[in-house]
Amino acid sequence: MAYVVTQLCVDVKHKDCLDECPVDAIYEGERTVYINPDECVDCGTCEAVCPAGAIFYEDDLPEEFENYADIAREFFAMTGASGGGAFAGPQHTDELRVAQLPPQL
Ligand code: SF4
Repeated sequence: MAYVVTQLCVDVKHKDCLDECPVDAIYEGERTVYINPDECVDCGTCEAVCPAGAIFYEDDLPEEFENYADIAREFFAMTGASGGGAFAGPQHTDELRVAQLPPQL
């Protein structure tokens, strides 16, 4: 289990969470950020600081965003990004389902 960034972040990307995560488990994509489920320690800090209310614990995902846990896993399988978001840097890509979304703003 891990916390999950949902569609409410797409094209918004405030990125407040990046500075607050104690284990640097949040990575920047092109249109959104992604939490690495293998690195997240479930502290809940990012959920509390997100101005868009875009982050949920996996078990508490609203029905319309349930696929975002899989989207996060696929993003990390696709990019191989690991070792911390600051270390990995911006990925300049998105998981396919995010990339194909119409503009969200
Ligand atoms: S729940 Fe905590 S450890 Fe997991 S991504 Fe959010 S701030 Fe980082």
